[in-house]
Amino acid sequence: MKFVVIIPDGAADAPQASLGGRTPFQAARTPALDALAARGRVGLTNHVPDSLPPGSEVACMSLLGYDPLAFFTGRAPLEAAAQGITLGPRDWAVRCNLVTVREGVMEDFTAGHVTTAEATDLLAAAQAGLARDFPGLAATWRFVPGVSYRNLLLYRGAEGGDSPAPLAGDLQATPPHDLMDKPVAGAIPRGTGSRMLAEVMAASAAWLDGHPVNAARVAAGKRPATHVWLWGAGRAPAFEPFMTKYGPRAAMITGVDLLRGLAALAGWKRLDVPGATGYLDTDYAAKGRYAIDELSRSDLVCVHVEAPDEASHQGDAAAKVKALEEIDAKIVAPIAAHLAGLGDHRILVCPDHPTFLSTKTHSRGPVPFLMSGTGIAAGGRTAYDEPTAAAAGDAILPGWKLMGEFLGTRSA
Ligand SMILES: [Zn+2]
Repeated sequence: MKFVVIIPDGAADAPQASLGGRTPFQAARTPALDALAARGRVGLTNHVPDSLPPGSEVACMSLLGYDPLAFFTGRAPLEAAAQGITLGPRDWAVRCNLVTVREGVMEDFTAGHVTTAEATDLLAAAQAGLARDFPGLAATWRFVPGVSYRNLLLYRGAEGGDSPAPLAGDLQATPPHDLMDKPVAGAIPRGTGSRMLAEVMAASAAWLDGHPVNAARVAAGKRPATHVWLWGAGRAPAFEPFMTKYGPRAAMITGVDLLRGLAALAGWKRLDVPGATGYLDTDYAAKGRYAIDELSRSDLVCVHVEAPDEASHQGDAAAKVKALEEIDAKIVAPIAAHLAGLGDHRILVCPDHPTFLSTKTHSRGPVPFLMSGTGIAAGGRTAYDEPTAAAAGDAILPGWKLMGEFLGTRSA
């Protein structure tokens, strides 16, 4: 059996006045999805437990078949995995943004999209500052450059001997993108280890102030990176490998680090597709071609497309509709045609979470799923959208059980 999973990120939405009272799924012309719906099963699921943040890191973990309530530990460990960093059982990863805070206000959570080369220099200065001001921490804590403003601070427990980990699961910190144009004074971390993180964040102002990179940015009229902002801390999730848990050998196609990290932790192959940008300009057709090609090697291929989520963040209903039409024509249609010639196969389509055009942000709540193929009985629906899925009266809950149901393994 060959399996294909397609994740239109953030695609689920509410009816839009600008779309004549239809949702983007309803408004988009999606003949390939509708044909699959007519032959298969349409219903609702929910990938975001009430107690967890409604983001791709939680929802996509659920979509891949892992219970976020059991396995979600934070965002940073997923990004470490995406970078090929393996965390030991005593290690922690903390997300480290370079940000611009001026007069106590979060002016920019990206520090003006600081370049990777600039970030690398600034984090070297931060590491030197850490060694100078916090000599007790410098042996076990390391700033690790990532891409642009998205970096990591790693705690390597084994290097610190037998001392207890300085952070614990009760640690909470605010993502800097939730603080835009707001005062940061009340948003310092809370819980075990929070004081140390807050002290490092405060001290970073002096480490970065006057750094040649910042001086050059200011001279060029760009925003300086004034602080490191620490959040998203966690240990590596203890995933059972996907092949052991579910059977198929799987591969991921995505333009997004978080999804690459999840796939790495699950033991999936990751494919780099030229032109897969993670934005609205992504090369849809290339993703479809690579997926079809990979089906000759892997049992399951997942295509994740970030574009619908990006369109929602911009509040652009027309762009969201366009993204869904591109997914239908350039990914779903060619893959469905290819699968039809392969013998036993199944295809699953499901967004990770709604991203509402009205709020321009991720939300919790139900999302429509569609599964079609060998052994899946037709449910009598002829479209794939939120109202149709709700009317079908078919629900798979909690969302992480969708994968087992789709694969026919019903893993507990
Ligand atoms: Zn998402």
